[in-house]
Amino acid sequence: VGVQLSLGVDTAPLLAQVQDAGRAWRLGAEPFALQCANSPALVQVLKHYVHVLMCQLASSVACLRSHLIGPRLARWLLMCQDRAASSSFSVTHETLAGVLGVRRVSVTRAAGLLQTGGFITYSRGKLCVTDRAGLEHAACSCYALDRQAYDALLAPPHPY
Ligand SMILES: [Zn+2]
Repeated sequence: VGVQLSLGVDTAPLLAQVQDAGRAWRLGAEPFALQCANSPALVQVLKHYVHVLMCQLASSVACLRSHLIGPRLARWLLMCQDRAASSSFSVTHETLAGVLGVRRVSVTRAAGLLQTGGFITYSRGKLCVTDRAGLEHAACSCYALDRQAYDALLAPPHPY
């Protein structure tokens, strides 16, 4: 959130939504600008982050037009797992429907197939990835491309 500040833009036309509990750091715009002015290493990481974000946005647009809901859902769940750094995380079918641009019933159907395949379990808003390799196989190719871009420029070691 706020990456536009690294590009010299101080307004954000988008709404950010936190999807799960966790810890976060918060830094005001002025202290952030001061840190950037004093840290070329921070600026370089931010440039890499913006590049990876642009790659993910581009692949998301192509994914939306090219891939079926099941593989897109698997991709999104893998991304959630990566960000949660845990095999279980909170997410509702309604939220997934919103991010995938489909009706809730379509998410329920696709998630049911992933659950039947043994890749995930889902109960009362809590999703658990039980077979990551299987879920990666079920995902569209966009996940691997996103992961490759992320690993190339921003990698801490992948936990899975
Ligand atoms: Zn895709």
